[in-house]
Amino acid sequence: MIDLGRKYDVLVIGGGNAALCAAISAAREGASVLVLEGAPKFYRGGNTRHTRNMRCAHDAATDILTGPYTEEEFWEDLLRVTDGKTDEELARLMIRESKDILNWIVAQGVRWQPSLGGTLSLGRTNSFFLGGGRAMLNALYLTAERLGIDILYDAEVVELDIADGMFLSATLKRGDGHAAARASTLVAAAGGFEANIEWLKQYWGDAADNFLIRGTPYNRGSILKMLLEKGVQEIGDPTQCHAVAIDARAPKFDGGIITRHDSVVFGIVVNRNAQRFYDEGEDIWPKRYAIWGRLVAAQPGQIAYIIFDASSRNSFMPTLFPPIESESIGGLAEKLELDPVALDKTVADFNAAVRPGTFDHTILDDCRTEGLTPPKSHWARKIETPPFYAYPVRPGITFTYLSTRVNKQARMLMRGGKPSANMFAAGEIMSGNVLGKGYAAGMGMTIGSVFGRIAGREAAKNARN
Ligand SMILES: Cc1cc2nc3c(=O)[nH]c(=O)nc-3n(C[C@H](O)[C@H](O)[C@H](O)COP(=O)(O)OP(=O)(O)OC[C@H]3O[C@@H](n4cnc5c(N)ncnc54)[C@H](O)[C@@H]3O)c2cc1C
Repeated sequence: MIDLGRKYDVLVIGGGNAALCAAISAAREGASVLVLEGAPKFYRGGNTRHTRNMRCAHDAATDILTGPYTEEEFWEDLLRVTDGKTDEELARLMIRESKDILNWIVAQGVRWQPSLGGTLSLGRTNSFFLGGGRAMLNALYLTAERLGIDILYDAEVVELDIADGMFLSATLKRGDGHAAARASTLVAAAGGFEANIEWLKQYWGDAADNFLIRGTPYNRGSILKMLLEKGVQEIGDPTQCHAVAIDARAPKFDGGIITRHDSVVFGIVVNRNAQRFYDEGEDIWPKRYAIWGRLVAAQPGQIAYIIFDASSRNSFMPTLFPPIESESIGGLAEKLELDPVALDKTVADFNAAVRPGTFDHTILDDCRTEGLTPPKSHWARKIETPPFYAYPVRPGITFTYLSTRVNKQARMLMRGGKPSANMFAAGEIMSGNVLGKGYAAGMGMTIGSVFGRIAGREAAKNARN
């Protein structure tokens, strides 16, 4: 029985990877810890439930990773994907600490498995969780319970009492009523605001009504908002987020990884007017998949269609929904409710512009179009072999980057630069410190594990002083 009359050393808000790493790390430092997870037990773990892998630096091949991935290479990858929009000190700290996380997370009960194949080749850089994100979480929860950490589910925090940068207590929903939780220190690990359509609309307008949210409906950004309103310094562009093209037939929330489409490079992508709008073969897919959410968001009605033919049908990872199929392009257009004449012309123009080459989707091959706007720079093959197929896609929002500013101790900084007396943050809620824009696969979990571990340790130390 959890006694909310008690004052804990550390209060952790959230129930995903960052929260659990923080809670375990604090408990291992001898602190008493209470975790408040807003979701019911069955849905515990936020977006972490959907994950598959984590990116960590390492100096030599491991049991499951094929070769070294040095700190410097990780740093260069991060610089490239963010266009330099990152806090170098925090980013380098994260990368350095990620080396140790490979073993630390195993000591918390998580198991690795060899890399999955498919369109994203991550065998050297990313370690995969045996059983996926849910199994990873189950291991962390079990460890947390064994360490005596108190965990409350269905415990959405609706108010934070903060005075002059110091956390005093949190108010949580309990059934029909409210209760208070007190602790000497706070770790905020409650994710971003990607599931809050109204908040997204502030930056995207009505287009946000057509966004699909790939993960938990519980990440509504309420804790982030409260912290920023109570004087914590913000960092990160509110319009920046990780967004991919996912199947338009996916549920509004929680569709997970199997709704993502990786077939763009094998065909063409048209909008509601049956017009192409971007170079589908600009660069290799792992470097481009994360731009397609934004590209589709900019199209009328926030919908687009990946069109391909029988020659590509088995070339990419299967997804949850089968493609829409027809023996003719006109028939396909009718099924998609597109103008058949317009789609016929778009495909015919594309086919006429394709120059012969040797197709290889693993390299920047010489199959390209000539004299077409926009071009398809690689992997351009005529769409001419029936049956013809289409996947309807919409923007799928993974997570947002607007964040609380932190220092190397994962301690929140107040506006004006003063460190908070007792508030720490980890995971998505502070991802904007490292990700000004862009993304490299597997970094969400690195941010959560590294800063979660640091935040827990520092919060425990803080509580003792
Ligand atoms: C489909 C999908 C696949 C992904 N795959 C990967 C991958 O393979 N590798 C990778 O690195 N990243 C991946 N990501 C991103 C990754 O999920 C996140 O970066 C990571 O899980 C964030 O961890 P977190 O602990 O910060 O947040 P979360 O795991 O989202 O946890 C946030 C928690 O806060 C709780 N919460 C929110 N508000 C409140 C409140 N007011 N009171 C109490 N609790 C609250 C939520 O219920 C939730 O438990 C994926 C994301 C999605 C959606």
